[in-house]
Amino acid sequence: MSARTPEDGNPERAPHRALSPETLAAQALGRVDPRTGALVPPLHASTTFERDPDGGYSTGRGYIRPHNPTFDEPAELLATLEGGAGCLLFSSGMAAATAVFQSLLPGDHVVVARVMYWALRKWLIDFAMPWGLEVEFVDASDPDAIAAAVRPGRTRLVWIETPANPTWELTDIAAVAAIARDARARLAVDSTVATPVLTRPIALGADLVVHSLTKYVCGHGDAMGGAVAGGAALVERLVTGPRVHQGGTLSPFNAWLIARGAATLPLRMRAHEEGALALAGFLEAHPRVARVIYPGLESHPQHALARRQMENFSGMLAVQVAGGAGIARRMMDELEVFHYAVSLGHHRSLVYWLDTEDLMRSSFRLTGAQRESYARFAGEGVFRISVGLEDPDDLCADLDRVLR
Ligand SMILES: *Cc1c(COP(=O)(O)O)cnc(C)c1O
Repeated sequence: MSARTPEDGNPERAPHRALSPETLAAQALGRVDPRTGALVPPLHASTTFERDPDGGYSTGRGYIRPHNPTFDEPAELLATLEGGAGCLLFSSGMAAATAVFQSLLPGDHVVVARVMYWALRKWLIDFAMPWGLEVEFVDASDPDAIAAAVRPGRTRLVWIETPANPTWELTDIAAVAAIARDARARLAVDSTVATPVLTRPIALGADLVVHSLTKYVCGHGDAMGGAVAGGAALVERLVTGPRVHQGGTLSPFNAWLIARGAATLPLRMRAHEEGALALAGFLEAHPRVARVIYPGLESHPQHALARRQMENFSGMLAVQVAGGAGIARRMMDELEVFHYAVSLGHHRSLVYWLDTEDLMRSSFRLTGAQRESYARFAGEGVFRISVGLEDPDDLCADLDRVLR
């Protein structure tokens, strides 16, 4: 591939369709720094950029809040992998997700999944709803529930997350995209756990794809970031304002780390899946384990959808064990390979107990039938396991020792 010229930061460019995701990610879209010939994209720390003598900005850059050239490569790679022409990077997954909602107006109606990343759910309840957004929480694993909730001409946005943290329920993206289209609502998908290599929401009809880059895309647990990908004009119109003016801009160093991590994303996802399948099978047969929820297991209630929609089942498990809260306390002390810690998508394996009561009180606040349906998945709580890149035999032995 030929060397590319410096970009003006405008994400509108045709995706490179011909090469596979592995190649595009491994080679950072084939880019070579045109000034130095460097194969590693340079890290530009500058917060400000010189103006042309005629007063213009021929580079398209003035100040870091709208743009820094270090963003070009990861943004273009993500746009290309997602099959959208536009992608905007943010300081975090939450900054990316909230920017999508902040493109709406008080009084707008949105339909969102009842199971989603806890902090976003809490933000919707504590900030977006008091601000005036009319938010309806539905069981997104059931497209009929979404069809019943959307109000044609009134609903502006349908927000889903698949697989959904922390129960790993799935949403049928194509089915929900058809419902949203009929209602003239936009569909946004939090695809953090599926990553840009396992599921292609835009090809399935979604308008926007949101990622926490802090997780699998960076993959090394050392940089926070977020992204919104989609049609170039849509991304520009919906989320550029919230990002630029609220200041949810990524640091160039984090952009550089994320670009470096993304080079191995397809390879790492294969290893995460391999480890997760081994651990899920081991735990499902374990006498102390009541239930393992993993899209790659035939026992997952939506395994057929997972096979259809995901090219790989990712590396996240939920595990029910009687007396989980007590085991969690022992884990902090006794685990040798796993780390008892929040977050996901890193090279190191992480486990964390999510107590259903605590989650309901602190952020989910589901009531009635929705709470019952959550408990049907999660029981009194689940161990959320993010399978890293260690040898699966070491992971199985570590959990086995603590569970006995
Ligand atoms: C972590 C996470 C987020 C939030 O991302 P941050 O980078 O932590 O702000 C959003 N959605 C999902 C599914 C996540 O796992």
